[in-house]
Amino acid sequence: MRRFTICAMAMLLSIGTLLAQGPVKNIIYMIGDGMGLSSVSMMQLINNYEPTIFDQAENIALQKTYSADNRVTDSAASGTALATGVKTNNTMLGMRPDLSHAESIMELAQRKGMATGVVVTTYLQHATPAAFYAHIDSRHKLAEISEQLLRSKLDVAIGGGMAFFEERYGDKEEAQKAIAEAGFEYVSSMEELENADNNSRTLALVSDKEVGADSGSYLAEATSKALTMLEAQSKGKGKRSKRGFVLMVEGSLIDSMGHGNNAEAQQKEMESFMQAIKVAVEYARQHPDTLVVVTADHETGGLALISANADFNLSEQGVEFKWSTGGHSGQMVPIYLYGAGAEWINGIMENTELNAKLKELIK
Ligand SMILES: [Zn+2]
Repeated sequence: MRRFTICAMAMLLSIGTLLAQGPVKNIIYMIGDGMGLSSVSMMQLINNYEPTIFDQAENIALQKTYSADNRVTDSAASGTALATGVKTNNTMLGMRPDLSHAESIMELAQRKGMATGVVVTTYLQHATPAAFYAHIDSRHKLAEISEQLLRSKLDVAIGGGMAFFEERYGDKEEAQKAIAEAGFEYVSSMEELENADNNSRTLALVSDKEVGADSGSYLAEATSKALTMLEAQSKGKGKRSKRGFVLMVEGSLIDSMGHGNNAEAQQKEMESFMQAIKVAVEYARQHPDTLVVVTADHETGGLALISANADFNLSEQGVEFKWSTGGHSGQMVPIYLYGAGAEWINGIMENTELNAKLKELIK
C-alpha cells in the first residue's frame, strides 16, 4: 500500500513537472549518426571550452545502444530502437526480430493528426531515416525502401537518394511520375526548396546519393525550411489539424568520418550538425511548446582523446585523437534535451526507453 502511494506520488510528480513545463506539441528529434561522447568532447576541446550548444542543454541522459542480436549495434537496429521503441537485429528496419511490424513515432504522430518530416545529410533510404518510415528485413534493399518512402505519410523529406528511385522505377522521369502520384511535390535542389510552397507535401532529393561531406550550412538550412513547412502544414487548412509536428534531423556523416578514423573531417560534420541543433533550439525558444532531443544511434570509431605525451602529469603536451576501430563501439551515448518536457527525460536508459518517453509525450 505504502509502495503504491509512493509510486502514485512519483507519477503525479512527474506529470506535474511535465505540466509545469507546458504540454509538448512539437518534437525535434536530432540524431548524430555515430556521435559518441568523445565526438562531443572533441568539439569542446577544439573550441577551447567555450560553451557549445551541447553545454546549453537543459537536461541530459545516457542511453545504451546494444541491439537484439549484437552488443555492438548497427544503424538499422539502433535507428529502429530510436524510431519504434523495439530492439531488433542488426540490418533490420522497423520490425521486430520475428519480422512483425513495429510502429514508428512518425506513424503514431500521423495517426494523431500531426505533421511529420525527416531531414538528413545522406540519402533518405539510409538506415537511420528509413527506420522512421520503412518496415523491411534488410537495410540494403534500397529500391524497396524507396517505394516505402513514397507509401509513407511523411509531409516533408529532405536529403539525397534519387539514384535508388531510378533503380526502383526505371529512370528519372518514371521516378518523378511515381513521386507525383504518391502526392509529393518533387524538388531537386536547395535553391528550388527555398522557393517551394510551405504548404505542399514535399520530397526534396538534392543529390543522387549522399548530400555529401563538408556540406557546410546545408543541414541548418534544410532544418530551418522543414520547420517552416511543418509549422505551416500542422496549422494548415482542410484535413490538417493543429496538433503540431515531429521532425527527425540526422547529422548522417559524423559516422562515415568515424569509420574513416578522420578526426578533422568529423569535426566538420559535427560543426554542421551543431549549426542545425542551434536552429532547432532557437525554434524551441520561440515556440515554448517544442522539445528538442539530441542524441546518437551509437558511437563510431572508438575515439579517445589522449595526451600526446604519455606522461600527462606534465603540463599540456598536446592532445591526440586516437581511434580504436574502423567500426562501431558499444559505449553509451549522450542525450541532450532543450525546451518543453526536457525535465521529463533523464537517467540511464535503453535506447528503446527514450522512444517510449517521446511517444508518451505525444499520445
Ligand atoms: Zn549509425
